[in-house]
Amino acid sequence: MIIVMRKSATKEQTQSILQEIEAKGLKPMPLYGTERTVIAVIGDERILDKQHIASKGGVSNVMLVLPPYKLVSRETKHESTVVKIRDNVTIGGKEICVMAGPCAVENYEFVSAAAKAVKAAGAKILRGGAFKPRTGPYSFQGLGEEGLKILKRVSEEEDIPFVTEVLNTRDLPLVSEYADILQVGARNMQNFNLLEELGKQKRPVLLKRGMSAKIKEWLLAAEYIMANGNPNVILCERGIRTFETEIRSTLALQSVPLIKELSHLPIIVDPSHAAGKPSLIPPMSKASIAAGADGIIVEVHPKPDEALCDGQQALTPEIFKDMMDEMRPVAKAVGKTM
Ligand code: PEP
Ligand code: MN
Repeated sequence: MIIVMRKSATKEQTQSILQEIEAKGLKPMPLYGTERTVIAVIGDERILDKQHIASKGGVSNVMLVLPPYKLVSRETKHESTVVKIRDNVTIGGKEICVMAGPCAVENYEFVSAAAKAVKAAGAKILRGGAFKPRTGPYSFQGLGEEGLKILKRVSEEEDIPFVTEVLNTRDLPLVSEYADILQVGARNMQNFNLLEELGKQKRPVLLKRGMSAKIKEWLLAAEYIMANGNPNVILCERGIRTFETEIRSTLALQSVPLIKELSHLPIIVDPSHAAGKPSLIPPMSKASIAAGADGIIVEVHPKPDEALCDGQQALTPEIFKDMMDEMRPVAKAVGKTM
């Protein structure tokens, strides 16, 4: 059940509804929008009297939401969610947010060079993995906490927030001490324990689509995070696995406008892991923005040949800068700024 409060509803009126729901043993999840507050009820909502709730002061209307995901649904919250990072970065508003940097943190020099270059070209967030989800156990697994320290140092020196992946609940307290945004990788999209714990902490979460996940499953994964108390979820389309082998993943770009219909959450696109090679990335980045994405996350490395992970798909800083210049008119054409 979703209870939509009036614009004019007072704090006391909202509070009284929250208390009434709790008294029935259900969990109210208030979503505070800039326009109005919406309260989602978690649990067996049949024990609530819809008419009684609708008659309470400050209530605009009460509705039953049909999709299995409720808090992430645009039916529940019409206005788009804008996730704020530090004071000056937003994801989901009018401004396109570009996140860029190496696949993995290898050393301070590479991360520093990448951060300087991507920031100068207009990226708003630095990316880099300290804990890497590698397919094989003998591949470079990341520097762990040492990598987080490098990211933090560079982030402070260059004054740019950073996103990094968290692989499991064990590492979560550590990674969330450092990172501005916690990334859930494709391989972990349905790690429900991790999603629940991410819901209980304060950092925004970048939730990548699993490589064989349906859109409904992806939204339900986001619902796990929101249902546990964290409203700051950013979705990321990174391509799905199909019969095609010429490209790394099939970039399912219809998900962008579809997610915008189904959900109020921001969505960005990762063209790097879909493309698997640099030449396809600029066209797919422009296509992502044209399709309505709120941003992209892209791999950039100062020396791709020396990268320990995904060097074959990393853009050089020069190509990244040219790509950013090409993206600006596309952003403008769809009413966004960059
Ligand atoms: C990554 O962003 O480095 C990564 C491993 O991506 P994905 O989880 O989408 O494969
Ligand atoms: Mn990578």
